[in-house]
Amino acid sequence: MTATVASKLLPTYARQNVTFVEGDGSWLVDASGARYLDLFAGIAVVALGHRHPAPLAAAQAQLERLWHVSNLYSTEPMQELSVKLSDRFGGASAFFCNSGAEANEAAIKWARKATGRTEIVALDGSFHGRTLGALSVTGQPAKRAAFEPLVPGAKFGLGQVSEQTAAILLEPVQGEGGVHPLTPEFLSEARALADGHGALLILDEVQTGVGRSGSFFAWQELGVKPDAVTLAKGLANGLPVGALLVSDDAPVGFEPGDHGSTFGGNPVACAAACAVVDAIDDALLAHVKELSALFVDALSARGLGLLLAFDTERPAGDVIAAAFSRGLVIGSAGPNTIRLTPPLTLSLDEATHALSILKEVL
Ligand SMILES: *Cc1c(COP(=O)(O)O)cnc(C)c1O
Repeated sequence: MTATVASKLLPTYARQNVTFVEGDGSWLVDASGARYLDLFAGIAVVALGHRHPAPLAAAQAQLERLWHVSNLYSTEPMQELSVKLSDRFGGASAFFCNSGAEANEAAIKWARKATGRTEIVALDGSFHGRTLGALSVTGQPAKRAAFEPLVPGAKFGLGQVSEQTAAILLEPVQGEGGVHPLTPEFLSEARALADGHGALLILDEVQTGVGRSGSFFAWQELGVKPDAVTLAKGLANGLPVGALLVSDDAPVGFEPGDHGSTFGGNPVACAAACAVVDAIDDALLAHVKELSALFVDALSARGLGLLLAFDTERPAGDVIAAAFSRGLVIGSAGPNTIRLTPPLTLSLDEATHALSILKEVL
């Protein structure tokens, strides 16, 4: 628990007094050399564990070849990633950016352009990112209040869907909002409302996507296909990348000049992402479901796949600190909610070890 290097950072985070210096599979090492089992994975980002050999080798090889060209040109990793994601989706075209918020910004612009409408219907309790557009459709007043006025046209609740609606934007599992999965019935209702009003259905799979739900996309678990999805967190195992995938069945919307990103589709990030997508196979998805059942049973947790949470009487911060002092990193999703987003590659032994620490702490 030693902060060894002075810092000059704006105080946007209430940071813990620890500096991590190394990651190794499901483990983190701090500046004093202490090891921690990581059931947080950088908020569902390090999906294959720290320094997984496949994305590591892919990123290293790409670092030796080409770091960047303008998006006015093509690169192989970006092209390959778009095809791999299209195959997983069942036919879709990609726009690449660098984060979840940017992916949702792209989705909002796409929906406006494709429909000629301006309203986006999201849900109370939702989280779609911190940029002004993404914050506008985030249904958490506390995160918004200091930054009003936001982008007009945001509505909350399916009851707001109308002929003005460009898109319904939903997280299959509300992550930051407390880990609340949508039911298949709710999602079907959203699909029917979108179809009935000529609106698009966009799923924000920034946290649920890339295997975390037990399927590649959470919508596959819930049985309702969207017109578009956004991805980011787990896509490149820790390198920054985000994506908007637009279904081949939905309008293309964008024309050249409508949207862009200097760094979007970065070759190194996309090379790592290709390796991540290849690693999400049936065996790993079965492992996600097995681990999920283990945690759900042992902790009476809710969620989907390895996006899990449970409520505690004690403040989540106290539970997190007690676990940390025993060498276990966990997260929160609200003042009395513990969130677990371990690497999908967490072993059964590691899961058992984590559960024994949690039992002690709780
Ligand atoms: C984390 C998250 C975002 C924002 O992603 P950033 O990369 O932090 O911009 C958006 N939507 C969901 C569902 C998220 O979990």
